[in-house]
Amino acid sequence: MEIRGLSVDYGVGPQAVRAVNDVHLTLNRGEVLGLAGESGSGKSTLAYGATRLLPPPGVVTGGSVLYHPDDGDPVDLLRMTPGELRAFRWSQLSIVFQGAMNSLNPVTTVAAQLTDVIAEHRPKTSKADRMARAAELLALVGIARDRLDSYPHQLSGGMRQRVMIAMALALEPRVVIMDEPTTALDVVMQRQIMRQLAKLKEQLGFSVIFITHDLSLLVEFSDRIAIMYGGRIVEQAPAVELYDNSLHPYSDGLLHSFPALRGPRRELTGIPGSPPDLRDMPVGCAFQPRCPKAFDPCGGSPPPLVRPASDPGRSVACYLHPSA
Ligand code: ATP
Ligand code: MG
Repeated sequence: MEIRGLSVDYGVGPQAVRAVNDVHLTLNRGEVLGLAGESGSGKSTLAYGATRLLPPPGVVTGGSVLYHPDDGDPVDLLRMTPGELRAFRWSQLSIVFQGAMNSLNPVTTVAAQLTDVIAEHRPKTSKADRMARAAELLALVGIARDRLDSYPHQLSGGMRQRVMIAMALALEPRVVIMDEPTTALDVVMQRQIMRQLAKLKEQLGFSVIFITHDLSLLVEFSDRIAIMYGGRIVEQAPAVELYDNSLHPYSDGLLHSFPALRGPRRELTGIPGSPPDLRDMPVGCAFQPRCPKAFDPCGGSPPPLVRPASDPGRSVACYLHPSA
């Protein structure tokens, strides 16, 4: 999937704020692309804008989102008719929303919620087949079949979250977007769910966009990571390279605000100051007021995302790293 020049505003006219600004991002087949950035940097807006799930007053103001199916020509999600989009969601692309574990229907059993998704998109499947598939899906995410008749309140938070993941996988989509899928859970449960997901990804071969605040989880489970700041991507690199050697001072700050899981201890610094106000963005680089390495050019125009001369395999938007 290729996101090209995507911009998203909240509101229209002079009151509008740009929450996602000219984002280019590619999700390759079978990879986990991690998306990180402080609260308010535009991660969810990017995910929902790209998939036409943005609630008003959000408006996509430009760009395209090309999906390349396994066979056939690419399609632009932003130009699909509502009917095309309905058929596309769930079957090709599904989303686990931020805080989703609380969005299961409280008065419907787990089985009914799973079979409903299947019935809606595969109306010809028999009731027995749908039930069998629901049990299989629960097994996939490590939940015993005797939980099929449970109501959401009878399940732990981790189980509810795994039910949401099972629902997202029900129609074997090619792309799964997970917005903070485990944030409300304890650390052990987060890892357990992510390990299960990584295993499923290997079995079923889908791609994942994984959004989280948890940098250690992100580094562990992503192939590639994109870092957002003030609605823009400021750096993109293979996860290990980013962790070992981030180029953008913001990525550096983010990565130094969590303790290393293994390897040598690193100094925890964090980032002083707060994220930019979208209604009053700094001129030039949005990170400049907080940047320990800011110099003259940073006050000019926002630095473009370029492949740096030092390492053309990644991209960064920072005047410290001129393009190749
Ligand atoms: P978090 O990590 O907290 O989930 P995020 O990176 O997902 O944050 P978004 O929720 O995408 O950030 O928000 C991006 C920006 O858009 C924020 O500055 C936010 O205030 C603004 N925003 C989000 N929803 C609305 C809305 N309905 N109306 C106006 N502004 C909004
Ligand atoms: Mg969010």
